[in-house]
Amino acid sequence: MSCLFCKIVGKEIPATVVAENDDALAFRDIHPAAPTHVLVIPKKHIGSVAEMGSDDAALLGRLVLFASEVAKKEGIGETGFRLVNNTGPNAGQSVFHLHWHVLGGRGMSWPPG
Ligand code: 5GP
Ligand code: ZN
Repeated sequence: MSCLFCKIVGKEIPATVVAENDDALAFRDIHPAAPTHVLVIPKKHIGSVAEMGSDDAALLGRLVLFASEVAKKEGIGETGFRLVNNTGPNAGQSVFHLHWHVLGGRGMSWPPG
């Protein structure tokens, strides 16, 4: 059975898609943690950063560029945004399909809790 985000890619589960290209999808997080909270995922299933292989290096570059384009499209390119990736239990990863959180529209503190 495919994972939750694979089902969103396959349109088996609805999502508010804000941008798409050949190998990536961007959609709004169902529980936004900031005024802008978009998830950027590869259409291909990769469980996490820890499961990426050297063959995925170019895809990783395209995903980060795509996330930057999404941030600009969302109007947070100038005010600033945070690209967050959670990998594994201590980081609080809850969906095991690689994703970047694109967060913006408010000030954010550092370091995270
Ligand atoms: P993680 O905790 O793995 O870094 O992030 C997973 C994110 O996916 C969470 O911010 C959560 O709100 C979001 N999420 C979980 N289920 C769904 C869903 O069905 N639809 C959407 N759009 N977001 C989801
Ligand atoms: Zn998946």
